[in-house]
Amino acid sequence: MTEIIDGNAVAQEVRDGLGDAIDTLADDGTTPTLATVLMSDDPASETYVSMKQDDCEEVGIEARDVEIDPDAPAEELFDTIDELNADPDVNGILVQMPVPDHVDDREVLRRIDPLKDVDGFHPENVGRLVAGNARYKPCTPHGIQKLLADAGVETEGADAVVVGRSDIVGKPMANLLLQKAEGGNATVTVCHSRTEDLAARTRAADIVIAAAGVPEMIDGEMLGEGATVIDVGINRVDADTEKGYELVGDVEYESAKEVAGAITPVPGGVGPMTRAMLLWNTVKAASLQTETDVRL
Ligand code: NDP
Repeated sequence: MTEIIDGNAVAQEVRDGLGDAIDTLADDGTTPTLATVLMSDDPASETYVSMKQDDCEEVGIEARDVEIDPDAPAEELFDTIDELNADPDVNGILVQMPVPDHVDDREVLRRIDPLKDVDGFHPENVGRLVAGNARYKPCTPHGIQKLLADAGVETEGADAVVVGRSDIVGKPMANLLLQKAEGGNATVTVCHSRTEDLAARTRAADIVIAAAGVPEMIDGEMLGEGATVIDVGINRVDADTEKGYELVGDVEYESAKEVAGAITPVPGGVGPMTRAMLLWNTVKAASLQTETDVRL
């Protein structure tokens, strides 16, 4: 029987597990606080930010909502980040990407205080992750690590194939699987758009992480019997639904399910974990900044 990995259930466990830490911080007079900064009028970005704020409120994290006119000069965003960096009540800062074209997104990432960088994208935090001394693991790969652990999938000695090499998913995922640490010790292959014979590589893998952003590109024929399949993709495809579209992953679920030993659905797999790990990182940020020991 193929195990369907339930991201909603594991995300709920993560959120429940934060309760004690948040109580301990409260005893010390700290309410973990996340500032979300939105410089966009893209409806999808607006939705992502409001979901993150709702998630915060649900677990007792304070959400600060900062909105900047997308036509404002880049300096306005940088000044805002500087103010949030200097504000002792703000523990985590998240600038919703993408920012408008006239804003240098690398400078945005560099500008955030690395101690408040709960996305884990600041160069200092990327370097720490690569060096095996992560401060904040980026939310999506961190969530996937938790999903694998919860499903009892052994990464040590496993052949893992990561399809995608983005800075936010593919690269940090490959790094985490490679670390000489729990949830790591895999033999990792990273594939991308120039990889030749992708199918041969995914078919030979014990663990496939699909993060290419190409609807249903990995089907059952590209998988080995019993493989663990983690589908990161969230793709809108035209469909005869009320909204006119439906969400599909990078994996062709029906055929993959027949071959896989365990698989994440879309939606309800990786997505909820990404959201939960942002809360986790924010609580960790509050504990680091206030030097309060909490169990995470
Ligand atoms: P990017 O577009 O930044 O990166 C995609 C990567 O996939 C690139 O490295 C690209 O290669 C590679 N790729 C593209 N086409 C192919 C192909 N045909 N064969 C092999 N590799 C290919 O995407 P992200 O990493 O930001 O996101 C990936 C997907 O995950 C998207 O669907 C996104 O919506 C989703 N996502 C989901 C999250 C969640 O919480 N569930 C969180 C973040 C993202 P190259 O480098 O050569 O261009």
